[in-house]
Amino acid sequence: MDVALDDPERDPRVLHVRGVVLPDDETRDLWLVGDRVTLTPQPDATTIADGGFILPGLVDAHCHIGIKHGGGHVESLDEARELALVDRSAGVLALRDAGSPYPYEVLDDDPDVPRLARAGRHVAPVRRYLRGLGVEVEAPDVAATITSQAKAGNGWVKMVGDWIDRGVGDLANAWDPATMADAVAAAHAAGARITAHCFAEESVAVLVDAGIDCLEHGTGLSLDVIAKMAAQGTALVPTMINIETFDGIAASAEDKFPGYASHMRRLQAGFPAVVAAAVDAGVPVYVGTDAGGGIVHGMVVTEMEMLHQRAGMPILDVLAAGSWGARSWLGFPGLVEGGLADLIVYPEDPRRSLAALRNPSRVVLKGAVVR
Ligand SMILES: [Zn+2]
Repeated sequence: MDVALDDPERDPRVLHVRGVVLPDDETRDLWLVGDRVTLTPQPDATTIADGGFILPGLVDAHCHIGIKHGGGHVESLDEARELALVDRSAGVLALRDAGSPYPYEVLDDDPDVPRLARAGRHVAPVRRYLRGLGVEVEAPDVAATITSQAKAGNGWVKMVGDWIDRGVGDLANAWDPATMADAVAAAHAAGARITAHCFAEESVAVLVDAGIDCLEHGTGLSLDVIAKMAAQGTALVPTMINIETFDGIAASAEDKFPGYASHMRRLQAGFPAVVAAAVDAGVPVYVGTDAGGGIVHGMVVTEMEMLHQRAGMPILDVLAAGSWGARSWLGFPGLVEGGLADLIVYPEDPRRSLAALRNPSRVVLKGAVVR
């Protein structure tokens, strides 16, 4: 069959791998021609792996390569690129950037950088979000700002659903419910999917009613809202690594905002059960670390282990949530005819233990061997 090389200058070889392509259980052959997968045998292919277990790479569905460690935006494209390569070294071959204060759209075409699904900047309420990250707007400007940030991304837009309201002394919605619903409609009108940072109980109910595509964190989810998410297909990216930091947030807020502090502790304590309930209800749950700012990059396998060990998500579901399922959700076809030429080979079966994901023997991104 005729498969065109995307960039014959870069890697003229045709690659061949053989192994158990998960989630199926049989040994199969795949050929990589340029940036495409084919199941049709290719002459003169170089075999780079024979044996082992093959995944289309891991996905970090919530991270920030435009935010530097400790907070604030990165200062250069090189800095954003470096962070993406840290994720790649952990096996991440596709990522969703859930809000970037630094524009780096040229990295979409960088052969060394994982596939990127990007939001623009966070759309946040005024003086009620991490300083310097979001576009901070009052209610009348929310919809128009969502529209412009949808255009700044490549398919996603990110809003802040709730944050501490210092006047109230607790988490509160970012804006009134009608404005939040209008934000969802504005994103959809712009052809983007929209997700929201949500810790509390109220914001998730409003946004799920409004038809939001995904929720980040979701500590405040009730069984009723979870049932609605499952019915609508609304995704959840729990970022269990992030929720582990709530007790630290609570401790530093204790003196001034004791109500907020105790609320954050309650949310943290109840969270593994929330994720378990979402999994049980059939909510599409995906793996995201929330790297950037306070959390280091490259923790994707740790997040997968937490979903399994703390929230009881079955291993095969965790693998889907952090690999083929997440890729399909983000629009990056996997190891099928005509799919994208990204794959990782593991000597040990990750269905037996997720720890196998820490020891790949071969990594191919965009048709080129990176390990
Ligand atoms: Zn985040």
